[in-house]
Amino acid sequence: MSSTGVFVVDRLIEKFKRLPGVGEKGARRFAFFVLQQPSGWVEDLARDLLEAKTAVRPCRICGGLAEEELCPICADPKRSNGIICVVETVEDSLVIERHGVFDGRYHVLGGRFSPLDGEEIPSDRLDALRRRLVQEGVSEVILALNPSVEGELTAMAVRDAIVDLPVRVTRLAFGIPVGGSIGFVDSATLKLAMEGRRGL
Ligand SMILES: [Zn+2]
Repeated sequence: MSSTGVFVVDRLIEKFKRLPGVGEKGARRFAFFVLQQPSGWVEDLARDLLEAKTAVRPCRICGGLAEEELCPICADPKRSNGIICVVETVEDSLVIERHGVFDGRYHVLGGRFSPLDGEEIPSDRLDALRRRLVQEGVSEVILALNPSVEGELTAMAVRDAIVDLPVRVTRLAFGIPVGGSIGFVDSATLKLAMEGRRGL
């Protein structure tokens, strides 16, 4: 027992249990896996965790993950400027990137919102989107939101916030099952959804 009265392995298990999708059993497996690794590996892991937490911050333009002022996508002059893909979370933009179906830029709303429960999109994220549409000469906004009731309401809220600007607003539609999640579709489905986007 440590001086705090909690065995250090139990503390580790409790930490791992907080990870998304990890239950008691998974947390135990993680803890014992760590204990079996060489010290150097564990030191690397600890250092990477700390470094990621201190070095990574929101991109000044899109709200994605950045180690500098801008994320690699906003800093890339080769990406198309006229088209912005609005996503709820950074994870969603990373999934779309991984599938390689989009070469424009992103705008991260910063969470999954449930307008029915009074969870509105933060107004500063919508204001930032409006500013970008004007400053970057954007001609199309793709709403890459999940096909759920919450996603529909979030899409409408974004559209309402930019409806007075001369921008085509489209929505991913074809291919993604209702009730599904962008994070779980395969490349072919996502490519179809991107190609089959519709006006909103
Ligand atoms: Zn960015």
